[in-house]
Amino acid sequence: MKILLTNNDLNEALYDVSNLGFVPTMGSLHKGHISLIKKSLKECKRTIVSIFVNPTQFNNKNDFINYPRSNNKDLLILKKLKIDFLYMPRVKDIYYLKRKSSIKLREKDKILCAKVRKGHFEGVIDVIKRLTKLIKPYKVYFGEKDFQQLYLIKKYIPKKRDIKIISCKTIRDNNKLAFSSRNKLLSKNELIKARKITKQLFLLKKRLSKSKNINQLIFKKKNELINLFNIRFDYIELRNIFNLRTSNKVKNSKLFIAYYINKVRLIDNF
Ligand code: AMP
Repeated sequence: MKILLTNNDLNEALYDVSNLGFVPTMGSLHKGHISLIKKSLKECKRTIVSIFVNPTQFNNKNDFINYPRSNNKDLLILKKLKIDFLYMPRVKDIYYLKRKSSIKLREKDKILCAKVRKGHFEGVIDVIKRLTKLIKPYKVYFGEKDFQQLYLIKKYIPKKRDIKIISCKTIRDNNKLAFSSRNKLLSKNELIKARKITKQLFLLKKRLSKSKNINQLIFKKKNELINLFNIRFDYIELRNIFNLRTSNKVKNSKLFIAYYINKVRLIDNF
């Protein structure tokens, strides 16, 4: 595994590399990331993983500072996986030109996380544009865990780039809680809480398919969870998977949730 720290390293290493799979991450790697990397290793001739905690996608400075980082552990994981390249750029390697995102979300896309985390997806889409411009991959891998991110990247990354966006299933622990770097910020008790909440939400999704009054059922469950677990919701909404419009039927829809356990914000979709 070659470790690339600057754009010069990157250009030298990728000179004449083709059929390259790219897995962008913010590090603190877990089984979710590993599944993306394994898919790339299987499908592409070469695989590059990036670790870059992108400052422009954090709408809250403390969230950026407190974001979990574990570079040494990540290095061991990646070496074991036998990826070809690890790219760990500095902020100035990515933002050598102007730092402001050129992405403007359309009004109809300002929903779910885009509504509550102002500027977040503008930062995400912009950094993916910059990274793919530098790396020129054939395929880029994203997790359905961040379904709205995947949806917007497909929509806003210019088609002329000729990059294949590959979506990958959400990986969960034995209790169905989705792996997430942010889980590392949870105490043991909070982790137990997150697992119980996930179980309830899976049950809710099941019940929705048999219910005539979907919105009422969601509203009831939301209040029940708030009272039971002392959590705060940003949203819990059923939306169509193809256009992310609010939906009142389970077919072709997913339940999207974002909630806080104390200060830790978790998102998922079912
Ligand atoms: P992050 O490091 O959180 O920016 O995530 C990097 C990539 O891993 C994104 O495409 C995520 O959607 C994906 N990812 C994160 N958690 C999971 C998971 N539990 N299962 C599958 N993919 C995931």
